Amino acid sequence: MAAKHVLAIDQGTTSTRAIVFDSSGMPVASAQKELPQIFPRPGWVEHDPEEIWRATVEVCRGALRKAELTPAEIAGIGITNQRETTVVWDRATGKPVYNAIVWQDRRTADLCGHLKKAGHEKLFTERTGLLLDPYFCGTKLAWILSNVAGAREAADKGALAFGTVECFLLWRMTGGKVHASDATNASRTLLLDIRRGAWDAELGKILGVPQSMLPRVVDCSGELGVATADFLGAPVPVLGMAGDQQAATVGQACTKPGMIKATYGTGCFAVLNTGSLAPHSQKRLLTTIAYQLQGKRTYALEGSIFIAGAAVQWLRDGLKLIRQSSEVEKLASDAREHGVYMVPAFVGLGAPYWDANARGALLGLTRDTGPAEIAAATLDSVCYQTRDLAEAMKGDGAEIGELRVDGGMVVNDSLMQRLADTVGLPVARPRVIETTALGAAFLAGLHAGLWPSLEALSATWALDRAFQPTETAPSRDRRYAGWQDAVRRVRSA
Ligand code: ADP
Repeated sequence: MAAKHVLAIDQGTTSTRAIVFDSSGMPVASAQKELPQIFPRPGWVEHDPEEIWRATVEVCRGALRKAELTPAEIAGIGITNQRETTVVWDRATGKPVYNAIVWQDRRTADLCGHLKKAGHEKLFTERTGLLLDPYFCGTKLAWILSNVAGAREAADKGALAFGTVECFLLWRMTGGKVHASDATNASRTLLLDIRRGAWDAELGKILGVPQSMLPRVVDCSGELGVATADFLGAPVPVLGMAGDQQAATVGQACTKPGMIKATYGTGCFAVLNTGSLAPHSQKRLLTTIAYQLQGKRTYALEGSIFIAGAAVQWLRDGLKLIRQSSEVEKLASDAREHGVYMVPAFVGLGAPYWDANARGALLGLTRDTGPAEIAAATLDSVCYQTRDLAEAMKGDGAEIGELRVDGGMVVNDSLMQRLADTVGLPVARPRVIETTALGAAFLAGLHAGLWPSLEALSATWALDRAFQPTETAPSRDRRYAGWQDAVRRVRSA
């Protein structure tokens, strides 16, 4: 009998998860492990790649055990991962030469500044769809080569390999046989020409990265490698790979141009499918590869907001206004009529501002402002930031019909209603909100034949609840004008 389940690995920033999905796209068992964060200096964020590997092995075995399935009953593995996090390892020993430098790490801000001053940003943006920001891999990789003793010499001799997390995991799972990165992850490196889907030698030269370090760029679905028997007890093929936001785009079945999803976790990432066109954004959005299937690339415009749920965590851990994130809904519902704005620029502002030096602020305080108003303003900031992205996407010519949402915050019904009102679009929440892992499962299941086509897997998308905008346009625009004013006040330049 053909295997009817797929195993999805979701290697995220704060945890590593494995979920077994059945052929109707429903999760049947999962296992999870927290990932320790390493902060060697202010602004630096690292993970131990060995820790990532150990956790991956553990949760995969755990999920399989809970599902009461043998490896032979798994049709294939799909991997999705925290994007941009950069690993360099020795090809001979498989040992990382340095910790993984995490996407949030700001250590290369100066290097990015130098590259901009030297006039390189235009070229990078044209070829890669990205901006010169420490967020992406390229300058992180350059930092490792310049700062780890012996790394540059070893790289020049071809002894080192670079990869994002899915690439590192695939290498380890295949016992060092396969060094490959899927096109979506590769599109976040500052080294890929996204229109050709190939590494760009000129960009590599500017960053001082030898081409010999770079993985092969492959499709998001296909025979990507075989996990050796050490991994699960019997060989299992790896059939799907995509970065987390792109996987969520597939998991949300945003497979047609104009469809958009927004994931609300620690940060918020909105991804708009633009089909076979890779637009040059005029509004400082990123252009990125949504997925690559059978060599054919589908593109997306992406807006990245660094702080969404993290602002609720700040209410909990910083201000101690609540004990659990879920309490924010009740607290905010007690807010009186107020003009308070909260700009959560704790680590600067992402899209569309890209202002690394902006810092957060609470504005419009009066004597009767209390915890409830601050909580309401914090949740509102998530809505306003989404509107910023929607406006930017419209400015780039997009016509948006509805916003598909997922992530840990979307259980909050009043927030979802406020989001619909603020953005002026219907908000659709699916039944499965674990869309990142689901997307990885879909990509693997697509090749395994669990779903014959993208259309077939789109048909498994099911609505939990839709939120319609009810506020009048003048009222929503008045509130938004207040937000824009608040943002102006926190900008660094
Ligand atoms: P990540 O995958 O980025 O770790 P999740 O998707 O698990 O994040 O979402 C967790 C985030 O959602 C946390 O930042 C938490 O503060 C926030 N959150 C959880 N429940 C609620 C709620 N009811 N209302 C608002 N925010 C919430």
